Amino acid sequence: MSDTYNGPDAKQALQNLLEGNKRYIDSSLTHPHQDSVRRQSLSGGQQPFAIVLTCSDSRVPPEIIFDQGLGDLFVIRVAGNIVDDIALGSIEYAAAHLHTPLLMVMGHTKCGAVTATVSGVGVEGHIANIVNKIKPVVNETRNKQGDPVTNAVFALANSVADQLTSSEPVLADLVQSGRLQVVPSVYDVDSGKVEIVS
Ligand SMILES: [Zn+2]
Repeated sequence: MSDTYNGPDAKQALQNLLEGNKRYIDSSLTHPHQDSVRRQSLSGGQQPFAIVLTCSDSRVPPEIIFDQGLGDLFVIRVAGNIVDDIALGSIEYAAAHLHTPLLMVMGHTKCGAVTATVSGVGVEGHIANIVNKIKPVVNETRNKQGDPVTNAVFALANSVADQLTSSEPVLADLVQSGRLQVVPSVYDVDSGKVEIVS
């Protein structure tokens, strides 16, 4: 593995994602970095320019909605785009060892995990672990105006981004020293647009 990162900085990385998303919305995908030349160029190691934590939902594949290819994105997907210790370890690996400068936490509209949590119906088996993790955010946003699921989706992306920004000892240190930028966003499954949450 290469120990030096010489890819785009966080600002450029975010721009790459948003430009790719625009190509996706406009149906002008370029499908970069998806050929054998790229595959072979990565045989010695990877330098992904962005970490993307997002939902497992089949409508939200980061490489497609950001029009990226092999070696571009370090992706963690779990229903509801929440983090446990294993997911956190994956993020820390990319941020600390691969020196990836951008971490995007991307929720999405019509998220089933959030919808289940908002509806309050009982869920079986290990799905309850996901719902329980989302519940505090849903409770915080329950009385806000507008659609409760959409409100919770935005709040959840923010909440998980905050959690990662202050995660000791690895991520908080990288953020404070300017080596990692954490950006929450929400993907609209109807329009295809990724909106940065501010
Ligand atoms: Zn989802």
